Amino acid sequence: MKSYQMLIDGEWVAAGSGKSFDVVNPATTEVMAKCPEAGAADVDLAVKAARRAFESGWRDVTGQERGRILLRLAEKMRKELPRLAEIETRNSGKPIVESEYDLTDVATCFEYYGGLATKLHGEVLNVPDNAISMALREPLGVAGQIIPWNYPLLMAAWKLAPAICAGCTMVIKPAEQTPLSLLEFARFFEEAGLPKGVVNVVTGFGETGAAIVSHADVDKIAFTGSMEVGKIIMRNSAETLKKVSLELGGKSPNIFFADADFEAAVDGALFGVFINQGEVCSAGSRVLVERPIYKKMLDAMIEKAKTIKLGDGMDRATKMGPVVSKEQLERVLKYQEIGKQEAKLGTGGGRPADAALQKGYFVQPTIFYDVANSARIAREEIFGPVMAVIPFDNEAEALKIANDTPFGLAAAVWSRDIFKCMRMVKRIQAGIVWVNHMQPTYVEAPWGGYKMSGVGRELGPWGAEEYMQVKQVHINLNETPIGWY
Ligand code: NDP
Repeated sequence: MKSYQMLIDGEWVAAGSGKSFDVVNPATTEVMAKCPEAGAADVDLAVKAARRAFESGWRDVTGQERGRILLRLAEKMRKELPRLAEIETRNSGKPIVESEYDLTDVATCFEYYGGLATKLHGEVLNVPDNAISMALREPLGVAGQIIPWNYPLLMAAWKLAPAICAGCTMVIKPAEQTPLSLLEFARFFEEAGLPKGVVNVVTGFGETGAAIVSHADVDKIAFTGSMEVGKIIMRNSAETLKKVSLELGGKSPNIFFADADFEAAVDGALFGVFINQGEVCSAGSRVLVERPIYKKMLDAMIEKAKTIKLGDGMDRATKMGPVVSKEQLERVLKYQEIGKQEAKLGTGGGRPADAALQKGYFVQPTIFYDVANSARIAREEIFGPVMAVIPFDNEAEALKIANDTPFGLAAAVWSRDIFKCMRMVKRIQAGIVWVNHMQPTYVEAPWGGYKMSGVGRELGPWGAEEYMQVKQVHINLNETPIGWY
């Protein structure tokens, strides 16, 4: 079993308290590593290192140089991808094919921001005076970044790459369940030319995250995780008026009209909610189906869901791994019981019977149908492989159900009628809307939620904007006095 250290000011260190915690493989429940449990004093050292690095040179490093560092990190990622994908799968449970896909996206993310680093610029404004007015873009300073466990290294990349691109320094905390891929990735920093202290990695629990949020010298918090913790972070950031960006959960509608391509619809509905064991913020967990195809589509989804192969993520035939932790398993099982009271069970509804799957945190892909949109399984984020199927009669009703949720992260509409699709696209209250697909995500395109699914946007130029602030500069070109007094 490996004992990891964390990265503060370019040094690999233990927690000041000497405390550490176990990291578990959810497919076997065996302890696979130990990581330091950072306390407030460790976080303080990390923030001080980030501040020093920012003030003592990083803020003035050219865009070209920051871009080259990002590209070198992408290159390292691609070279080491098989090794890191294996670590990601063993630590998070996800199928190895999905880890490989995620880590390719990590490299792509660093490549994109490597290119963008030389293209960030300010503006010159037309003001009604003999003057030059400018809007300069400057890095925000020290960013605190708090990462969830569902896409451990990818969610870290979505925060690290734009922050490096913008010229910030940072203190990043992976989730307690899945810190290993980020700690391994951090070994590339020095070789890629990242000065010490620019990125500090601290490991620990929620308290470690809370210490970053309450630290007076952190300028910005970027968080991905649950709505509940998002609210706490926003509240705690108020004390020092930090800039905050939040990528929270969802209860995203996946809407199927009767004229959709049937085979594609069945596949898209299953993929939308069962990918990554359903541990996806944009999971299409509410499947809305128009009545004329309701029964046929439900039967086809149930039949196909029963064939999803559960197993250890390291087996290439596995299509669904275990959920990430014992707590998450209990949470999903609890919602499956709630679902049995609230709706009809199509398939799944508990743990798999297979003897080989008893040890790990495996749970059956589950479909509930005839679900009322007021049911808890249609309103609360489960974050597991649980689909709620809801019938509808027409476009107006589909839209009403789709928007009847406090969340607004994502949605998808399936139909061959582009006019109907576009009417839906314009009225759906969500930050991401797919048409005839669900889940494709590109680093070029904005990611983030409407309503209670978040604040701010990640990816694309929007992602870098979150790490910058604008300075207005006015240059007077009149040589005569103002003449007021
Ligand atoms: P959390 O929102 O609790 O955790 C996300 C991150 O925030 C972790 O790094 C966590 O640390 C940290 N954190 C926890 N409490 C605080 C705090 N008070 N201040 C600062 N940081 C904190 O997610 P969970 O892991 O507990 O999962 C619970 C539920 O959250 C899931 O079932 C799911 O519904 C949702 N979720 C949504 C995600 C999304 O992408 N939208 C991602 C992950 C979860 P640590 O884990 O070390 O305690």
